[in-house]
Amino acid sequence: MTSPEPSFRESVDLMFDRASAHLDLSPGLAAKIKVCNSTYTVRFGVRLRGEIKTFTGYRSVHSEHMEPVKGGIRYALSVHQDEVEALAALMTYKCALVETPFGGSKGGLCIDPRAWDEHELEQITRRFAYELIKRDLIHPAQNVPAPDMGTGEREMAWIADQYARMNTTDINAKACVTGKPPHAGGIKGRVEATGRGVQYALREFFRYKDDVARAGLSGTLDGKRVVVQGLGNVGYHAAKFLAEEDGCKVIAVAERDGAVVNEAGVDIEALKAHLGETKGSVQGFTGGRIIDSALALELACDILIPAAMEGVIHKGNAARIQAPLILEAANGPITFGADEILRAKGVVIIPDLYANAGGVTVSYFEWVKNLSHIRFGRMQRRAEEARSRLLVEELERLSSDQGLGWSLAPGFKSQFLEGSDELALVRSGLDDTMRGAYQSMRKEWYERPGIDLRVAAYIVSIGRVAQTYRSKGL
Ligand code: NAD
Repeated sequence: MTSPEPSFRESVDLMFDRASAHLDLSPGLAAKIKVCNSTYTVRFGVRLRGEIKTFTGYRSVHSEHMEPVKGGIRYALSVHQDEVEALAALMTYKCALVETPFGGSKGGLCIDPRAWDEHELEQITRRFAYELIKRDLIHPAQNVPAPDMGTGEREMAWIADQYARMNTTDINAKACVTGKPPHAGGIKGRVEATGRGVQYALREFFRYKDDVARAGLSGTLDGKRVVVQGLGNVGYHAAKFLAEEDGCKVIAVAERDGAVVNEAGVDIEALKAHLGETKGSVQGFTGGRIIDSALALELACDILIPAAMEGVIHKGNAARIQAPLILEAANGPITFGADEILRAKGVVIIPDLYANAGGVTVSYFEWVKNLSHIRFGRMQRRAEEARSRLLVEELERLSSDQGLGWSLAPGFKSQFLEGSDELALVRSGLDDTMRGAYQSMRKEWYERPGIDLRVAAYIVSIGRVAQTYRSKGL
């Protein structure tokens, strides 16, 4: 029997303590940063299937050192106050690490979204949103939710519409929530942003030979054997991009009721389609052998990517994890106790507050787009193209006038002439953010012997939050 583990929120607090010990903070300021400012609990009724059903939801605000506060809304039966507060705290540290100007928040509704049809979910979501909006817990200047487990573009569009109905003269109404579909005020590249951020994080890690060596690995991402847990929004996009664009081999994907293993590489699109047809079951999938879901985490591989939920790597299985590199795409997938075991084994962990920050980064771009009321690239794209065309035409003129016989490489002209549209700009901003945040974390990792990447990430974040509080005179 292993001894009991701290709760998710206690785990986050313990990780905070490990890092804050390296900083010169007064105990009062450290306590202020760590504590969750408030949690609102709401119980509301909705008439469904001929009777009134009561639902319980939460919205936690961890830190208002910057406003608005930001954080997703989760739909799951397991949602409870401790979890929402842990996730809100992680949002504070994540936003500080990737320099998005937000405090941390999170919301949750205790519901199994698969148990309700679309119309019912809309009624429930609108009612939950109504309860939060009337208390300014959804507001473009104060509190801006986004998708999380169990929610997506559809729910965000309902929330945005509900806010607009209740605030008919607010010109910035669309900025009250991010992760909306592009036709409802969203931004291109948001759906896949967290998975794309995972890819950019790994690419940045693999740019540093020394870092790769610390994980006992070598070379590039090409050919690396990857295990992914959870083929939802984050896991699906991360697996897809790493396999299609970086040459990784996804040798196993774990889902709720089993894992698919295929040493030649699991066909991600085919598995996703199968899960869509079977309401999330891997059973019956013929593209690999099916094993117990939890066992997939223990397979020999180069990179393990838990992308489902918290606490899946715990004291009970940490010693059996064989991956030398773990990227936490989910929030809190490794408990505090498991973290100690893995560190002792020399496993390198790319921590959640960095690894899954792609979502909030692109949410920030969406919020800015909504406040500026103009799509990114609209003013400059064609001007950029005109300048590039001038250069290409001048090169072509010189070549023919001087008889130099130059010819541009195939494809160069069309690529060079293309101005940046919204998606290209979003990707550029996300890549820049993921690289910059990694470098700030890495600097601490190398300058403070004995610390790991998680402590390094917390040191950067806590330092920035502390600076904001100090500049406010606290
Ligand atoms: P999602 O609901 O789209 O997907 C979760 C997937 O995990 C589902 O396919 C589900 O079937 C699977 N799953 C659930 N429990 C499992 C288990 N025990 N074993 C194996 N698979 C299981 O959720 P998501 O948005 O992809 O979020 C996943 C994680 O990433 C969460 O921890 C979330 O907080 C975090 N995250 C999400 C975003 C985002 O933009 N969506 C951003 C940052 C962090």
